[in-house]
Amino acid sequence: MLFTITYTGENAADLGYLLHKNPSRPQTACFNFGKVHVFYPEVNPRRCTAALLLDIDPLDLVRGRTGVSGGSAPVGLFDYVNDRPYVASSFMSTAISRVYGTAMAGRCEKRQELADAALDLSASLVMLPCRGGEDLPRRIFEPLGYTVAWDQPPLDEKFPEWGNGPYVNLRISGTVRLRDLLRHIYVLIPVFDFRKHYWVGEDEVEKLLSHGEGWLENHPEKNVIARRYFKKISRLSRLAIDRLDNGEGGAAETEEPETGADADAASADSGGEPASGADTAGYPLRLNNLRLLSVFAELKASDAETVIDLGCGEGNLLLLLLKEKRFTALAGTDVSLAALNRAAERLKLDELSEEKKKRINLFQSSLTYRDKRITGYDAATVVEVIEHLDQDRLAALAAHVFGGGFKTIIITTPNIEYNINYPGLAAGRFRHPDHRFEWTRAQFRAWGDSLAAAYGYAVRYEDVGLWDETQGTPTQMGVFSK
Ligand code: SAH
Repeated sequence: MLFTITYTGENAADLGYLLHKNPSRPQTACFNFGKVHVFYPEVNPRRCTAALLLDIDPLDLVRGRTGVSGGSAPVGLFDYVNDRPYVASSFMSTAISRVYGTAMAGRCEKRQELADAALDLSASLVMLPCRGGEDLPRRIFEPLGYTVAWDQPPLDEKFPEWGNGPYVNLRISGTVRLRDLLRHIYVLIPVFDFRKHYWVGEDEVEKLLSHGEGWLENHPEKNVIARRYFKKISRLSRLAIDRLDNGEGGAAETEEPETGADADAASADSGGEPASGADTAGYPLRLNNLRLLSVFAELKASDAETVIDLGCGEGNLLLLLLKEKRFTALAGTDVSLAALNRAAERLKLDELSEEKKKRINLFQSSLTYRDKRITGYDAATVVEVIEHLDQDRLAALAAHVFGGGFKTIIITTPNIEYNINYPGLAAGRFRHPDHRFEWTRAQFRAWGDSLAAAYGYAVRYEDVGLWDETQGTPTQMGVFSK
């Protein structure tokens, strides 16, 4: 997999400063998905090319469980025979952010003025998957001001009648800042490549918004980009498009602390990789946020005006809901007083206007005991709570939640099948020491289906988090409606 950048201009070798990579010294960096080599095939006074070669060994991927198909067990044929070593995939995006992170952030002490200037740059990507659209490269790159060219090699030179393969060799050129070119490529490779390796993280909406800031909002194909970027997760693309349409940049919602149940799992979501910190704005990526945004989006899509968050923990969902005027009455309950106190602090209940104070009520309550105070709301959410209960108490929780007369009930819980993607999690361990169980998708659905039938709800299940072909997503969500 090869990605080159060519700078044409005076003192072209300054590209080395911009990329923080010395043209006279080839470098190799090792990551758990492969090796990345950076070298300069061309260094002339007026033209300089830097090449990033990503060398992936599919066997390493299997052994290291870096997961081409998500590190599934048992290992499938795809793990051994696949196109990952040859095509520009999300691994390439990751490599770019790792190796050129500082350049992506636009920092260059020695040549800051050059980093801030639009330069004559061109880039090439070898073997970019290009299914689903002859004209896709042009539609995606031309609106960003690039001249676009590509060729599409035949599937097999010996059998021209088979036609062309699904990959293109892409070349783009334009007058752009280096940081913008890198961000374009970084975001857009996964738009072309449908198969995504999982560790990139979960908080993909934030990542897309943050790296797309300044160019994606006005891109005529932004819907196509968001849809393809999120693959099967249509809810996420809707969320991203919504936020792009509302002119939101990447900064929002990123700063929730890791709390409670899944703090450890959220960091495990990076596949045991350190968060890439300052390298790429928008990290670290958190499953917690994504899950809350998904629940939030479901509530917005329902006609609920009053919502109770059962087992609200430190109040993260309530924080989101409080910002939306249409939710006229909100409540949060938890069995833990400490969690409620923390929620009150985070919601700044003390400082709320009288009007807002009337909108929100926090109280201690256990879902395993009947409590009339939880009734009377349009919607109830139970986010990452059920797995904290002993299974023999679950029937009591179900009776209270489903017997509460809510029009909408949203329940999320970990999908245990996905745990194999957390290298830091020993086999047989749950994501959090307080989890009493974690369910497969089939177990959760069986439970949900029986409750839906017993209490007269329609139910639909949604995947939350990055999709793994065999293991699904880290979080599963049931949306019950009357
Ligand atoms: N929903 C929150 C918190 C999840 S952590 C979020 O997504 O951020 C699980 C929470 O469930 C904890 O705050 C814990 O105190 C609460 N909890 C555990 N057992 C409970 C019970 N029987 N009744 C109510 N809350 C419970």
